[in-house]
Amino acid sequence: MCPDNGIEKSIWCKGIEVTPAYLEMVIKYFLDQKYEVVSLDQLVMVLNSKKVDKKYVVFTFDDGYVDNFTFAYPIFKKYNIPFTIYITSGFIDRQAIMWWHSLSDLLFDNKKISFELDNKKYDFDCSTIEGKERAYLNIGFLLRGCNESELADKAGKIFNLFKIDAYKKTDELVLSWDQIKKLNKDPLVTIGAHTINHLVLKNLSGADVKKEILGSKTMLESQLNYEIKHFAYPNGGRGEVEKREFEIAKESGFITATTTRSANVFLEHRNHLECLPRFDMAEGIGHKELQFLTSGLTHCLRNRFKRVITL
Ligand SMILES: [Zn+2]
Repeated sequence: MCPDNGIEKSIWCKGIEVTPAYLEMVIKYFLDQKYEVVSLDQLVMVLNSKKVDKKYVVFTFDDGYVDNFTFAYPIFKKYNIPFTIYITSGFIDRQAIMWWHSLSDLLFDNKKISFELDNKKYDFDCSTIEGKERAYLNIGFLLRGCNESELADKAGKIFNLFKIDAYKKTDELVLSWDQIKKLNKDPLVTIGAHTINHLVLKNLSGADVKKEILGSKTMLESQLNYEIKHFAYPNGGRGEVEKREFEIAKESGFITATTTRSANVFLEHRNHLECLPRFDMAEGIGHKELQFLTSGLTHCLRNRFKRVITL
């Protein structure tokens, strides 16, 4: 989420942010349309009951942003409806960085970016919005596919050059353990895991995938003294997580795991709880588009008429 006046500087993260007013509009839409808002545990019960006699919706937030506590939580409390926050434990522990926000700041504050990585020189003209967007895509591409040590090395080299403390930026944006503990005490809130470092899992070795998935579960459980049953794959699209990751999430003891593959959940998904699809909410999607999206038609077309999306 972002404050109503906070969109400008985070222009490159706009696809993942909504304002509190927009969130409330979306909640009202689903309630007006007679959807029942359920938790992930309740969703599993519905799927296992093998009978769906009404429409259900589950709200989830990824990464562990502090505004989930300051802005979203009061709204869900107001309507007395459940929601889930998937936590990337390394962000809270100051082990991992939200590099995309630091990159946003770097591009916003500079008209020209030059650096050297692996003996290759990179120069970006960031004097225009188009130039900044191009630079974001290119530098993002360099960082997105990294494993933990490569990311620390590459992001460190870029951000240090411009005196940007990416850990400080991440600290400003994420929940504290105290806030997570407070949220976890509320039956309306489900805390789920979202790996340690928020890397593209498909690019990692099997051992590293296991460490990322199980490590975040173990860390959350030791902090909260509570079993963590739900997981979301970071990034989570096609080419970013596949069968190997689904198996590892299942073996790690999660009841559900969600991707970012865009589709509705159907009864058949009770046999595929380790790869439940979701769809993004982006600021500006109005009632008509919501109706169209939830009808499943867009996803059906996007997924070549395949109804039940798993792999
Ligand atoms: Zn994420």
